[in-house]
Amino acid sequence: MADVNLKKLAAKMAAVAGKKQMDSKDLTVLREIKDGISQTLQELKECDSCGSAVTEIVRMEIEGVRAAVCHACGIKALKNKGLVLKHARHREKEHAHKKDHPASHKSAKPESVPANAHAPAKAPKVVKPAKEDKAPAVAAQPSLFSTPEPRQDLGAALQEIGEAAGIKPAIVRRILQIASSVAFPMNLERTLNYTRMEAQRENINLDNEALKKVISGLVQKAGLKLKE
Ligand SMILES: [Zn+2]
Repeated sequence: MADVNLKKLAAKMAAVAGKKQMDSKDLTVLREIKDGISQTLQELKECDSCGSAVTEIVRMEIEGVRAAVCHACGIKALKNKGLVLKHARHREKEHAHKKDHPASHKSAKPESVPANAHAPAKAPKVVKPAKEDKAPAVAAQPSLFSTPEPRQDLGAALQEIGEAAGIKPAIVRRILQIASSVAFPMNLERTLNYTRMEAQRENINLDNEALKKVISGLVQKAGLKLKE
């Protein structure tokens, strides 16, 4: 599937590349190609066993070895009752089911998982690509609840909140990042305490009134979530 996609993209690309003069339509095509390649890269996952890049990865565990593998390797592993891994992998989280009698493996059905659930291998020899680099603090938060939804008028909101509290927008933005950096929303009091403490570590000293104004402003205007 990804293969077909790439061929199409390559054909489009060749058509544009062959032109002497490009116009806005060609730019649109180039952008489509770029998006197409990004999408393809997102869909492709590496098989832990043979290393091929496939769109459908299967996560399985045999004899305590866990891996995300391609379809062919999954079948081979089920037949051989063993997983051969290309890269040494540390065991993942310890909620392995501990039925170790081989009989149960015959019926073991590989569980299909979405390709993007495939965790990056932790083999020390593997140099991680640059795209693994951490994004800015707010975007990098794994939290399901506290990250504010991106808003186009966030800048304006921060400005407004800053003006109301007599604080620079940049500081308001930092407060938002700090307050959003918790895994789960906390109540107002704990949010205030936590934010004050973290801000102080960065030499941002705010009086309680100002901080309260900022936090409630962020809740109202910038999508900051607190526990009710
Ligand atoms: Zn494979």
